[in-house]
Amino acid sequence: MDRVTEKLDPPATRANASAGADRPSSDPASIDAGIRRTVQQAYRASDWWRAHLDAAGVDPLSVRGRADLPRLPFTTKLELRDAYPLGWVMVPDRDIRRVHASSGTTGKRTLCAYTDGDLQDWADQFARCYRYAGVTEADRVQVMVGFGLWTAGNGFQSGAERVGAMTVPTGPGNVELQLEMMRDLGTTTICATSSFALLIAEEVASRHLRDSLSLRRGIIGSERWGAGMRARIDDLLGIESFDVYGLTELYGPGVGIDCDRHDGIHVWSDYYVVEIVDPETLEPVDPGQEGEIVITTLRKEAMPLLRYRTRDRSWLYPEPCACGSPFPRIGRILGRTDDMVKVRGVAIHPAQVDSVLSTVEGVGPEYQIHISRPDGHRDRLVVRVEGEAVFDAGSSLSERLHQVLGVRTEVEIVEYGSLPRTDRKARRVFDSRSDEDAGDPP
Ligand SMILES: [Zn+2]
Repeated sequence: MDRVTEKLDPPATRANASAGADRPSSDPASIDAGIRRTVQQAYRASDWWRAHLDAAGVDPLSVRGRADLPRLPFTTKLELRDAYPLGWVMVPDRDIRRVHASSGTTGKRTLCAYTDGDLQDWADQFARCYRYAGVTEADRVQVMVGFGLWTAGNGFQSGAERVGAMTVPTGPGNVELQLEMMRDLGTTTICATSSFALLIAEEVASRHLRDSLSLRRGIIGSERWGAGMRARIDDLLGIESFDVYGLTELYGPGVGIDCDRHDGIHVWSDYYVVEIVDPETLEPVDPGQEGEIVITTLRKEAMPLLRYRTRDRSWLYPEPCACGSPFPRIGRILGRTDDMVKVRGVAIHPAQVDSVLSTVEGVGPEYQIHISRPDGHRDRLVVRVEGEAVFDAGSSLSERLHQVLGVRTEVEIVEYGSLPRTDRKARRVFDSRSDEDAGDPP
């Protein structure tokens, strides 16, 4: 043990904390204590974190709380991957109770390890999400998302059980089974990705099943979705949808949700600190200004996050919510800092297409963005969207997209239901240009 680690506070895990001392709280003293404990424990227990903090010249003993956050180094997904599989874990292996992983769509998977305390905290946070959506022990919650290594299923399940609801873990896919359970068990609440919820909604509508169901709400998670998509799901099913936030590195889904005002997502500031920074300069932006969500955990035991760059784009509301919640709000996720594509030098975010589609009559909320370079020089941008056959898309929609995106856009109308619905994250951008030409950010 070297000079620095000798002076650190003794390790404090949930198991040996004195009664009452481990209650989550967002009062400033608790937040300071959470940051202090997290930094010191990371430094003590993980070579990877120690090197990370040393490289930034941060003496862990000098970190006293929230005011010191700007001095701490950012952590990125790539850095966490370098520490694969469990290099950033700061508890002994015997204290790890479970491991989940991100879907690993790009490169190596990111793992997330949990202690008993972490699993409890996650279920408590998810239970709070359900309560914000009005779920009680009288409800029947059908969990239509993936179980297994993925974080979603287990998160939705344990949160609903914590609330005391009847839970029905159907998992994703299998529409016939979903409809059967919804009808036979009187499901009141469905949990799904927006794309799968839309598929279910369309099936229910086309088979005229709505009156035979008891649905009241949807808890929609794990991908960004537009207002048009939400309105269509709600209309077809006659439900109220809630937008649940989360990421694998931060427990999983369930670390925030919108309330019944549907104006922003409440984030649980007793479990983590949210900063919004400019993704280029990495300087904090003012409340209300858009930027990248950066997260520091206050209570995570196995795998802390210090100023973790989520790559999710949003903003912090400057004022409290009219619902009276003490928890701050971020805006609905606008997209990811890395889902931006450049077409003819202009940056385009899929969220912009979402916003246009929700204002145009006669088209559905599902879409695909296809970018190609047919002649090897000039980018071609095609937005493929579902609509009525008679709808004259050539003019109004493509004109509107041109205005919003700043790039001439071709529109291809396909039949309703012909774009793929998925029970996982929907892929929206199809870029057939070669990688070095695509202009993607690193
Ligand atoms: Zn609220």
